[in-house]
Amino acid sequence: MTTSVSASDVPGPAPSAAEWLDRGYADDHNATAASDTLLINEQSRLLETQGRRITKFGFGQSPFPVFPPAVETLAEHAADKAYLPVQGMAALREQVAAFHRHLEGTDWRAERVLIAPGSKLLLFALMKALPRAEVLIPAPAWVSYAPQARLAGQPAVRLETSFDSRWLVTPAQLDRHCREHGPSLRLLILNAPGNPTGLSYEPEMQRELAAVAKRHGVLVLSDEIYGPLHHRGEHRPFALDYPEGTLTTSGLSKWCGAGGWRLGVLNVPEALGDALLTRLLGLASETWSSVASPVQAAAITAYSVTPALEAYLEAQRQWLSAIGRWCAQRLEAAGIRTHAPDGGFYLFPDFSAYREILRARGIATSAELTARLLEEAGIALLPGSAFGCESTQLTARLAYVDFDGGALLERDYPDDLESAMAVP
Ligand code: PMP
Repeated sequence: MTTSVSASDVPGPAPSAAEWLDRGYADDHNATAASDTLLINEQSRLLETQGRRITKFGFGQSPFPVFPPAVETLAEHAADKAYLPVQGMAALREQVAAFHRHLEGTDWRAERVLIAPGSKLLLFALMKALPRAEVLIPAPAWVSYAPQARLAGQPAVRLETSFDSRWLVTPAQLDRHCREHGPSLRLLILNAPGNPTGLSYEPEMQRELAAVAKRHGVLVLSDEIYGPLHHRGEHRPFALDYPEGTLTTSGLSKWCGAGGWRLGVLNVPEALGDALLTRLLGLASETWSSVASPVQAAAITAYSVTPALEAYLEAQRQWLSAIGRWCAQRLEAAGIRTHAPDGGFYLFPDFSAYREILRARGIATSAELTARLLEEAGIALLPGSAFGCESTQLTARLAYVDFDGGALLERDYPDDLESAMAVP
């Protein structure tokens, strides 16, 4: 006998849609809160509306204008309206692969490149497309890796780093982790130059890390969104040291100043075969479909290596190097230790020398420190705890981007940057 239950058979009024939502969320372990990054920016904006001058070292947005020829192409293609191929326009993938081959010496191939609305979505898609992989996240790390792993249903493991290891995971640490926890599919997330640290591996240490990853069959997701803004020596892509196991992401958001355009790129190495790329294309076709057509057209211009593009990149690197080192020197001179940055636009100072003085003022955590810096000094930084540092570790991220990048690019840089930016 079959029975059917209708809403009218249920005793009492049925829960409302809002109540169903509340019940569902009560035991939903995928919950993700708005990030601390957004919170600080909200507070900064609020203080500004009250007439306070805020130094905005909180938000990691490029201070430089978008590469002007790419803006012109975007305008010319404003009426483009077609859906484009899921993997991205073939002409764009060709240009992206050529850009990375030419500027970084890697072996990117157009047929192995996937274009998406931002590299953030590519990182998530990649985690989602792996068969139950342990995601290894060196801490501190960019805010979204751990929540993304959780949303993708993958177990995430923190690999703790320290000031003394330049906030980098060491080859010995990776080796120890793999030995102690047995064989498994693992995805190690690397990000150099790093957010929040601004630091990269020295070539020799990178080679050793790559050898360990290879020995244990660890896949590496190398988030190189700041690669073209490496400003102390050359950026060394991880794929040069571990070509067969490194998935690399990048995009227009940082080096091209176009975060809001939403265009990210991924290269899947040939040695990994077709299954992963096929999964990713499936995910892409069922979710984002393709990146906006005018943006893809503009990206072809941005990724075409010309003398104008190289000059644009070089000018950004020069200014970021000078400003980053100047900020680091100022912090050091005030007794706040930090590392001079290798690339991108972040510093990760450690205020622990002031621990006792701060404690006497009721400040014991990095979040309390950044809240008070904002309130009392009008300086917005993000607390180290937002990036996975212990809350009592008095670290913070300083994004040295509160300047008019457009005006700087118009200027010739001084002959001697070092002395121009020297500490008085
Ligand atoms: N990785 C890192 C380390 C980042 O800092 C960011 C942007 N803040 C992203 C990825 C995401 O960049 P996109 O705009 O390409 O999604």
